[in-house]
Amino acid sequence: MIETIVLASGNRGKLKEFNEIFAPLQIEVKPQSDFAVQDADETGLSFVENAIIKARHAARMTGLPALADDSGLEVDALNGAPGIYSARYAGEGCGDNENNAKLLQALAQVPDDKRTARFQCVLVFMRHAEDPTPLICQGSWEGRILTDARGHNGFGYDPLFLVPETGCASAELSPEQKQQYSHRGQAVRQFINAIGPWLKHT
Ligand code: IMP
Repeated sequence: MIETIVLASGNRGKLKEFNEIFAPLQIEVKPQSDFAVQDADETGLSFVENAIIKARHAARMTGLPALADDSGLEVDALNGAPGIYSARYAGEGCGDNENNAKLLQALAQVPDDKRTARFQCVLVFMRHAEDPTPLICQGSWEGRILTDARGHNGFGYDPLFLVPETGCASAELSPEQKQQYSHRGQAVRQFINAIGPWLKHT
């Protein structure tokens, strides 16, 4: 019976969200920092590879089942960039403002109808480091890149991401609205549906 799961992330928001999901199953989710685990090198070339690398590393270092996620923005006019490099698009150590400025610059000559893009999120759960069948859940959220930043909610590329169904930028949505549409919300809902029966096989 699983009692503790390690989260391959130091993000407090994600920790809280996953603890809420697992609470009814009497499973506690602890961050890898509680076990002095350093971040894994994200050497994969896709979201799913990087999520597996992170989950496997956390499981190997702790001996516990592990959960990881990887997410980012794919822009069609940029052949899928910034993709897995979304957090460091403008360079190591740069923040959201620099990343957003670089994206606007890269799309400066691109007309509205060619500014299609999507957020991607992959969640991976591994029962142990050698688990041959990780549970993989994926969500994707279609939108378009705006020409100017709008709104102050969220993080990352949210001020530049137009959500066509609402006519708003993602950064203009409330957290609840964003969760309803977002790539992460979709992946988490799939995960909630899959994890209960799946844990019976552990
Ligand atoms: P991570 O999966 O938390 O490492 O996120 C990777 C990067 O993708 C973030 O640093 C953001 O730049 C971008 N990103 C992922 N999800 C979102 C989102 O919901 N809104 C805005 N940017 C996002």
